Amino acid sequence: MNTNELLSSLGVPVAAFTGGSLLVRSPIDGAQIGAVPENTGEEMRAAVGRAHAAFLQWRNVPAPKRGELVRLFGEELRGHKAALARLVALEAGKVSSEGEGEVQEMIDICDFAVGLSRQLHGLTIASERPGHRMMEQYLPLGVVGIISAFNFPVAVWAWNSALALVCGDTCVWKPSEKTPLTALATQALFERAVARYAGAPAHLSQLLIGRADVGEALVDDPRVALVSATGSTRMGRAVGPRVAARFGRCLLELGGNNAIIVTPSADLDLAVRGILFGAYGTAGQRCTTTRRVIAHASIHDELVSRLDRARAQLTIGDPTEPGNLIGPLIDKGAFDAMQAALTAAKAQGGQVSGGERALADRYPEAWYAVPALARMPKQTDIVRHETFAPILYTLKYETLDEAIALQNDVPQGLSSAIFTNDIREAEAFVSASGSDCGIANVNIGTSGAEIGGAFGGEKETGGGRESGSDAWKAYMRRTTNTVNYSRELPLAQGVKFDV
Ligand code: NAD
Repeated sequence: MNTNELLSSLGVPVAAFTGGSLLVRSPIDGAQIGAVPENTGEEMRAAVGRAHAAFLQWRNVPAPKRGELVRLFGEELRGHKAALARLVALEAGKVSSEGEGEVQEMIDICDFAVGLSRQLHGLTIASERPGHRMMEQYLPLGVVGIISAFNFPVAVWAWNSALALVCGDTCVWKPSEKTPLTALATQALFERAVARYAGAPAHLSQLLIGRADVGEALVDDPRVALVSATGSTRMGRAVGPRVAARFGRCLLELGGNNAIIVTPSADLDLAVRGILFGAYGTAGQRCTTTRRVIAHASIHDELVSRLDRARAQLTIGDPTEPGNLIGPLIDKGAFDAMQAALTAAKAQGGQVSGGERALADRYPEAWYAVPALARMPKQTDIVRHETFAPILYTLKYETLDEAIALQNDVPQGLSSAIFTNDIREAEAFVSASGSDCGIANVNIGTSGAEIGGAFGGEKETGGGRESGSDAWKAYMRRTTNTVNYSRELPLAQGVKFDV
C-alpha cells in the first residue's frame, strides 16, 4: 500500500493530507507523499479552549474508567500495527522492524497506563496533632500540550497522552512539521477508540498541524498546565523560559550525546554489537544514539578496528526492503550537518572513515549516508556537540576515573553505558560519582529503552522524565490534605493563638 492507501485504511479523510501548504516528502526517495493543510496560532488557541472545556468534564470521570479509553486505544493500535508501522517507515525513513517497534512502544505504554489508572496513589502521613490525619492526593492537572520531534513521530505522543489521559488531563498535540501524516493516522485511530467509548467528552485529544509558530501559541497559552516538548536543545532553550515566564509546568526531552565506555574486561563481541546498533541504528537519528565510544587503551585499537570493519558492512538502502539496516537521513539539512561535523572532526585532529553520500544515483532527491567513524585524539568541541547523524567518535582512556570524567564532560546528559565484566567498574559507573545521565546501563547499549522505566536526562537534555516508573506524577497536581476529626484546634509546631 502507498501512503494514500495507508492513510485511508487508517481512517484519515483525504482532505486532511491533500491540497494543503505543508508538503511532506518521504526521506526514502524524496517523493511528495502529502500536502497537509496547516493550522494557525489562532486555531491553536481555540483548540486549547476546547481542551480546557473537555478537561472540566474528564477530571470527574473515575480514573479506572479513563483507563478504559486508553485500553480501547491500545486495541486500535494492535489492530492497525502493521499499517501505522509502515507509515512510520515511509514518512520517517525507519527500517521496518523499527517502525513496528515504535508502534509496539505505543501499545506497551497504553497497557502500562491502563494498570496505572488503578494506582494513582498518594501517601497517608502521620500527623503531629491528635485527632488529625494527613494525606496527599494526586488530582488531574489540566491541558497538556505535546510538542514532538520527527524521529519518534508517534511514540513520544503516546508516552505523554496515555499517561495524561488516565491522569484526567486532556491533550493538544503539535507534531513535527516533518511527520504530520503519521500524526494524522494516530489521531484517526484515537478517534476510533473514542467512538467506542460511551460518554467521552469531545476534544479529549486534538491534533494541530503547524511549524514552530503554532508550537509557540501552545507554549504561551496560560490554559496549558503542562508543556511536554521533545526535540533539540535549541527548541528547549526557546520553550523552557517562555513556559517559566508564565509559571507553567514544563517537561523537556532534548538532545543527547551518549557514550559507551568499554573496559579491559568487557565481552568485546557483545560490545561491538551494542555499539553498532546504538551508533548506526535509525541512521544515528535517535536521541539515545551512541555518539561516543570511550575505550581502554589496552583494547582500543582492536575494538575500533572491529567496529570500523562492521560499520563498512552495514547495508544501506530503502528501509522498507528486507535486509537493509541503514535508511536515509530525514532531509538535506541533516546530511549537510553531518558533512559539516565530519569536516570539523578532521580539522580537530580526527581520522574519519565513511560519511560519504550513498545511493545518490538511485535516489537523487534523498539523503543516504555511509555511517562514519571518527578516531579522535581527544574530546574536542565537535565531539561535545550533538550532530543528529550516524557519526561515532572514538576516544582512548587509561583509568576508569578518566573515562567517567570524559563521559560526563559534555553539555548533554541523556543516556550512557559501560561494557565490563568487573563488578567494581559496573557499580562505580552507576554510583553517585559515576555517569551523570538519566540513563546508565551495564552491558547493553545506550538506545532502545523499555517503557517501564522513567525516560529522560539531565543538563541540556532538559531534566524531564516521561513514560514509566512514577513519571505520571508530572501530569498531576499534588494536594496535601490535613483532616481534623477531633473537637480541638491544636496548631502545628505547638503555636498558641487563643484569645
Ligand atoms: P526540533 O527541535 O527541530 O523540533 C522538535 C519540535 O519542536 C517540532 O515539532 C518543532 O516544530 C517544534 N519547535 C521548534 N521550535 C519551537 C519553538 N520555538 N516553540 C515551539 N515549538 C518549537 O527537533 P527535531 O529535529 O524534530 O528532532 C531531533 C532532536 O530531538 C534531537 O536533538 C534529538 O536528540 C531530540 N529528541 C529528544 C528526545 C528525548 O526524549 N530526549 C526524543 C526524540 C528526539
